Amino acid sequence: MTTTQTGSRPPEAWYPEPLDLLNIDALLSNEELAAREEIRGFVRERIKPNIREWWEKAIFPREIVPEMGSLGLLGMHLEGYGCAGKSAVVYGLACMELEAGDSGIRTFVSVQGSLTMSAIHKFGSEEQKQEWLPKMARGEAIGCFGLTEPEAGSDPASMKTFARKDGSDWVLDGRKRWIGMGSIADVAVVWAQTDDGIRGFLVPTDMPGFYATDIVHKVSMRASVQCELHLDGVQLPSEAMLPDAKGLRGPFASLNEARYGIIWGSMGAARDCYECALEYSKNRVQFDKPIAGFQLTQQKLVDMMLEIQKGTLLALHIGRMKDEGTLRPEHISIGKLNNVREAIEIAREARTILGGNGITLDYPVIRHANNLESVLTYEGTSEVHTLVLGNAITSISAFR
Ligand SMILES: Cc1cc2nc3c(=O)[nH]c(=O)nc-3n(C[C@H](O)[C@H](O)[C@H](O)COP(=O)(O)OP(=O)(O)OC[C@H]3O[C@@H](n4cnc5c(N)ncnc54)[C@H](O)[C@@H]3O)c2cc1C
Repeated sequence: MTTTQTGSRPPEAWYPEPLDLLNIDALLSNEELAAREEIRGFVRERIKPNIREWWEKAIFPREIVPEMGSLGLLGMHLEGYGCAGKSAVVYGLACMELEAGDSGIRTFVSVQGSLTMSAIHKFGSEEQKQEWLPKMARGEAIGCFGLTEPEAGSDPASMKTFARKDGSDWVLDGRKRWIGMGSIADVAVVWAQTDDGIRGFLVPTDMPGFYATDIVHKVSMRASVQCELHLDGVQLPSEAMLPDAKGLRGPFASLNEARYGIIWGSMGAARDCYECALEYSKNRVQFDKPIAGFQLTQQKLVDMMLEIQKGTLLALHIGRMKDEGTLRPEHISIGKLNNVREAIEIAREARTILGGNGITLDYPVIRHANNLESVLTYEGTSEVHTLVLGNAITSISAFR
């Protein structure tokens, strides 16, 4: 990877750049900076002007899916089958920009590319890959990933969805909950118990016995769709099984891909909150001066800036490890736990700087704060990642 330092500023010309005081951009290559600019432009033009309405009215903007396909965002890090084959760092930068727009938009890209397409790419047969990946990469087909159940969240091994053999066919029965894009998906990757352990199945969503209902009354991730999936005797041919996924290794491999994107994405949401609070504080006058001039406000802004810079460096380090092939799931837990925890604190602190205006959708902050409540919980809760790391440093599992 070349690290031509087009993003760096010569020392003699140093001036404080509030969004990148450390000049982390200097660690990015030309290709990485150009990719980031392209996605940033897409978010500026297509997401930011509309997100307030989408979020308020709980609309997922399906019309932008093919546009995201043309930008190479869907299955961005996958090789072949019409996917963009970009590095982990470029994919991470894209997640950061998308989530600076809205976590719901980054969530779509994660569900489509990191969860569903990566499961097919890693574990599918050649026929399954040929059938689904190219059209999913173009945004002409939407996928969803059904692991969680009403009674099996952090402990997916306790899932009850069952696939039984019927001659050479499989028959699936069960219920999944919280499944992103379930009601607009063309295909669902469904994880189910079998007599041979947990296996994954590709379920076209027009199969008899499959239906999805939207979860409503959400006050987080409103520009995104989450569903309950119902599988009532869904009959599938033997070729519907993902041949190479056996046990929880299958879903966990895809979850790690999505968790990786969150490490970057959460810093995007945090950056948008910080940027908004910084601008607001310079313009809002109380007691005859901008509130940015009060020490207490500066403390908040500086703490935000510190955590965003540290979190971005952490994301970049983890991204470089992923590109080198040295990344372990525990490293992903460090990034997910730290960056989401800090992002939600930043969003809440930014909200205080905006005072009463901070609770309206006229500013992005309360929307990001509410979205981040979901990000804290999905793809492994903070508690689960803490236990992963506790196990890593003590060699004692505290899950049970
Ligand atoms: C917006 C959104 C989108 C989602 N998208 C998807 C998707 O596309 N596909 C999918 O399959 N799932 C999805 N999920 C589900 C998500 O992964 C689960 O919500 C998550 O795994 C937690 O499961 P749970 O909600 O059942 O909580 P629970 O597992 O019931 O946890 C409740 C609380 O108990 C804690 N807890 C549990 N076990 C322990 C323990 N051993 N020690 C200490 N504390 C513990 C948890 O950390 C948490 O604080 C989504 C969820 C949301 C909110």
